[in-house]
Order: sequence, then structure tokens, then C-alpha cells
Amino acid sequence: MSLTEKELLAKVPTQLYIAGKWVTGNGTGSITVEDPATGKPLAQIANANHKDALAALSAASDAQDAWAATAPRERAEILRRTFELVKARSEEFAMLISLEMGKPLAEARGEVTYGNEFLRWFSEEAVRITGRFGSSPEGTGRMLVAQRPVGPAFAITPWNFPLAMATRKIGPALAAGCTMVIKPAELTPLTTLLLAATLEEAGLPAGVVNVITTNTSAATSAPIIADPRLRKITFTGSTSVGVRLLEQSAKQVLRTSMELGGNAPFLVFEDADLDAAVTGAMLAKLRNIGQACTAANRFIVHESIADEFANKMAEQMSAMPLGRGVDPETKIGPVINDKARENLQRLVDATVSEGGAILTGGKSVDRDGYFFEPTVLVDVKPGSTILQEEIFGPVAPIVRFKTEAEAIALANDTEYGLVSYAYTQDLKRGLRLVEKLDTGMTGLNTGLVSNAAAPFGGVKQSGLGREGGLEGIHEYLETKYVMIPDPNL
Ligand code: NAD
Repeated sequence: MSLTEKELLAKVPTQLYIAGKWVTGNGTGSITVEDPATGKPLAQIANANHKDALAALSAASDAQDAWAATAPRERAEILRRTFELVKARSEEFAMLISLEMGKPLAEARGEVTYGNEFLRWFSEEAVRITGRFGSSPEGTGRMLVAQRPVGPAFAITPWNFPLAMATRKIGPALAAGCTMVIKPAELTPLTTLLLAATLEEAGLPAGVVNVITTNTSAATSAPIIADPRLRKITFTGSTSVGVRLLEQSAKQVLRTSMELGGNAPFLVFEDADLDAAVTGAMLAKLRNIGQACTAANRFIVHESIADEFANKMAEQMSAMPLGRGVDPETKIGPVINDKARENLQRLVDATVSEGGAILTGGKSVDRDGYFFEPTVLVDVKPGSTILQEEIFGPVAPIVRFKTEAEAIALANDTEYGLVSYAYTQDLKRGLRLVEKLDTGMTGLNTGLVSNAAAPFGGVKQSGLGREGGLEGIHEYLETKYVMIPDPNL
């Protein structure tokens, strides 16, 4: 039987999770988590300060050796049991994600499937950590190469995918034998708290995962990052915060994984299947109400089809019902807060003053919560402000191009390099694009690339390292090499 919103919220822990215990925070007051579709409070949760942060790190550090020594199969089984529990409660997780983050329930269900898959995928990877053994080239020794856990990790996650951003880090860390302190975003911390309770129920030993929630992120995180017991930091969020964390991490020479901002180009060539391109564009633009690092940020469309593409997109965008994510008819939810909404207005206004035009939408919606009209902007001039910043909302700027070389140059004209999308039916052109687009990932004739079995990550200022795939676990492993003299000599 499905729970009501009230019953669900009553089930979610509201305290910090440190050393296997739910404890109150020492920070000032508490944190109010609000529903972005109404602006009304959903829950009050604990506020951690630097003392709680160090207590959480101590718990992770104390648990590290025993956790690293557990049989890989045992670590795998705990992850698998957590996967099964999340699956059995997928409706609860989906409703919670939708409530605190605002995305439509159907998308929240998609996040549960996607996010939970990292637990299953890494439960399978835990038992496949291997090394190698061989002769030295001179034949005088044997060389053994092993993989071992990096050590205690600090994970900081963003608000936009409250489950998936946590499991993408917890899954590989636990599989590799690392313990962790995780700090979810203060805007959407409830899902991580429910996940911690689920890990506990699945039999995770005390101290292996510790959760701190805080509204003083910088001050509370800094002592953890400065502490020599920490060996790894894994961050998903904006490039500006990522750069600060890299600077802080340099002092301890920490291993770092950085999943940062994006400015994805979405290229549509004259030979593309236009309807498929529009379907892909809607997905790449509107997933998560446009608030995804993988969101298509710049539509770069051949001049011969630009008007038709824009009209088709505008027709679909303007027909999307807005509402609370948990309402079944909602196709587009709110953006996360008023600041995000004001930023969208600033970008739309700047585009118009720089020579672009509004085809549909273009302003805030006059109702409770933080809604912005799905917007299509046409005749956007290369160099416009909106093409240089992460939009993070349901706004689609369309730029025209004439030649393939021009399209590639426009696409690569950004300091970001997370993902690119390209629609063409010409195979040779498709392969040229894959080689020339300067991004860690490319969707060729698709608007969706995320998959737990694939290495997710970017180049340039979009980050360092990869999450998911065969690569994901290596972010939490160190290579140890051993030289052994030839036993026959
Ligand atoms: P953000 O950088 O503002 O915050 C991310 C996290 O960092 C939050 O938990 C926040 O509390 C914390 N934080 C902020 N300042 C900090 C500091 N000085 N020290 C320690 N922690 C600090 O980002 P956001 O607004 O939560 O998320 C949106 C951003 O995340 C976008 O730029 C988006 O592209 C990016 N993102 C990237 C990926 C990816 O995989 N590349 C995935 C999702 C989101």
C-alpha cells in the first residue's frame, strides 16, 4: 500500500548518521527543507558543524581497516541487499525525490531505477577487483600489481539528483573497500538520509557510511578536507565550488574526482531525422526541468531546418502541463528556488537585448512555487551570454549554422566539456563529430547518455575522473606494485 506524503516524511530520518547512530547536530538551529513547488516546508533536519564533521571523519577512519579487510563478496552482498530494498521501496524514494526536488513523479521513478543501478552494478564490480603478475623484462624478478582501497573518502553531492548522485559515489566506494562521509546538498538532503537508513537495514557496519547535513557547507567541510586521515574527495556540483575544493585538496594531495558543470551543445544537421531530433531535444532539455549537468544548453541547428526545428520544439514545449511533481498529470515541475528562477529571467532578457527573440515562454509563472515557462529562444547570436553559462532551467536557445566546421567550432567554444549531442544520418559525419567534439561523452542520435554501466564524466572544466562503468571503481582504488626477486636465482 502506498504511503501518503505525511506518512512518508514521518519515515525519513532527520538527524545526522555518525558511527552507526542517529545523532543531533551541533550547528546553529536546524535546516528547513522546502517543497519547491509550493515554497512550503517539508521537514526540519539536523544542522552539522565542524565538530560533527570531524566526528563523522573519525568514524569513517576508525571503520576503514575492518571494511577494507571484509571479503569482497560480503561488501557485494550488502550493496545488493540495499539495491533490493531500494527497489522494493522505489515508490517511496520516487515520491521523496519529487517532493524535495520538484521533478515529476515519472522522472523521479526513472532516477530511482538509474540511481539504484549503481548499487547493483558496483555490487557486481566488488568481486572483480584484480591485479597482474609477471616476469620483469630482464627475467630477474617477478612483478606483482595489486589494487587496494584509497582510504576514507569525503563525498559532496548536488541537489538535482538526490539519489543517483549519492549512489554513484557510495556504490564504488563501498565496493572498493573505502569508508565515507557524505554531505548531501542542503536543498535536497532527505533522500540521502533515507538511503543511509536503508544501508543500515541492509547490514552495513557502523562507521562505513556517515551522513552530515549542514547549511554551512564551506565551514563544515573544510576541517574534513584538511585532516590527514582523509585520502579522497569526490564532488559533484558547480565548477566554481569544484575549483575551490581542488585548491583545498592540494594541501593534502588528495585523490580527487570532480563531476562539474556542463554547457552541452546539441547539433542538428540538415540530414537529421528531424522528428527524432526534436524528441531527443525535448529529453535532453527538459529532463529534470532542465536542471541537469547533461542538459542540452545550446541548440546548434543547420540554417535550412532551424525554423522547422524551432517551431516543432516550441509547439511541444508550450503544451507541457506545469505542476507539483507528485501530481500525475505534471510534465514540468518548478526550478529549485527563486534564485534559479531569477537567473533564468536574467538569461532570457540578456538574449533578447543581444539580438535574439522569444518564440514561446520567456517569463516566470504567476503561481506558488518557483515555476518558469518552458521557453524557446530563436536567432540567438553566437557570443550571446546565454551560450556561455549553464542555464539550468527549461530554456532552449537556438543558434543557426551553415557548415559542419562552423557547427563544431560553435560547439567547442566553451570552457566546459561534459557531453555533446549530435543528430545526423550520415555515418561518416557522425564519426567525424565523435572525434572532434571536445566532450567526455557524446550522444549520437540520442538525447540521453546516462547509464550505470558507462563511464560518466567530462573534460576541460567539466571535471576529472569517471563515475560508473568499469572505470568507476578505479576512482577509489590505488595501485600497489611489488617487486620480488626471481625465486630460481
Ligand atoms: P553547488 O556547487 O552549488 O553545490 C554542490 C554541493 O557542494 C552542495 O552539497 C553544496 O552544499 C556544496 N558546497 C557548496 N559550496 C561548498 C564549499 N565551499 N565547500 C564544500 N561544499 C560546498 O552545485 P549545485 O547547485 O548543488 O548543483 C548544480 C551544479 O552541479 C551544476 O553546475 C551542475 O552542472 C553540476 N552537476 C554536475 C554533475 C556531473 O556529473 N558532472 C551532475 C549533477 C550536477
